[in-house]
Amino acid sequence: MQKVIILYGAPGSGKGTQANLLASKFDLIHFDTGKFFEAVVHDPKNQKDPQIKEERKLFDSGKLMTPAFVLETVKREAKEIHKAGFGIVFSGSPRTMFEAEGLVPELIKLYEKKNIHVFVLDVPAVESIKRNSSRMMCRFCGYGLLSAYYDVRNPKHCPVCGGPFYKRVLDNPETIKIRLKEYNERTAPIFGYIKKQGIKQLKVDARPAPFKVYQKIIKELGIK
Ligand SMILES: [Zn+2]
Repeated sequence: MQKVIILYGAPGSGKGTQANLLASKFDLIHFDTGKFFEAVVHDPKNQKDPQIKEERKLFDSGKLMTPAFVLETVKREAKEIHKAGFGIVFSGSPRTMFEAEGLVPELIKLYEKKNIHVFVLDVPAVESIKRNSSRMMCRFCGYGLLSAYYDVRNPKHCPVCGGPFYKRVLDNPETIKIRLKEYNERTAPIFGYIKKQGIKQLKVDARPAPFKVYQKIIKELGIK
């Protein structure tokens, strides 16, 4: 039976990096909620759809999108991935209590409770703001340059694909503050709900280098 790994953490906690590492380790599909919906709401083909336009406004301001819309989409994607025979690593879902109450029972049905693991990547707010405000993303492959290890003032080429970098609208300091508030007020309450479902959940200090955080997660999953 395949695994489901759900990663939580404030913006800049390194969810995306850990998700990519875990996806290649366990052959999981990485469902990156932020990246997925960024593509949906910014797709020129969708701009005539009034709901998408509303969702785009929410998304670009750093607010969470309409839970019912998100839940329906993520559930559909999860079922597709399960049908294709893969496990999933989520970075960014479920993000509200409404989504958790809809998605978690579905995941238990598909993958069984014992195969679901939740990790909360813990970073202080100052660190989150610092990491995000200097974040540069590759426009082509989505790779994020780790600002703690590279000079991000004027990076020329993505080290993965050679593509150009850009700074996301989401990563300006005012928007990061809104995202942090949304995370603390609307996402963090889910942790109690997940515990009540009897799903394993572990808080991990996400300040060390990503490879160290990764080693901790792997150890918890019982793999060396
Ligand atoms: Zn790239």
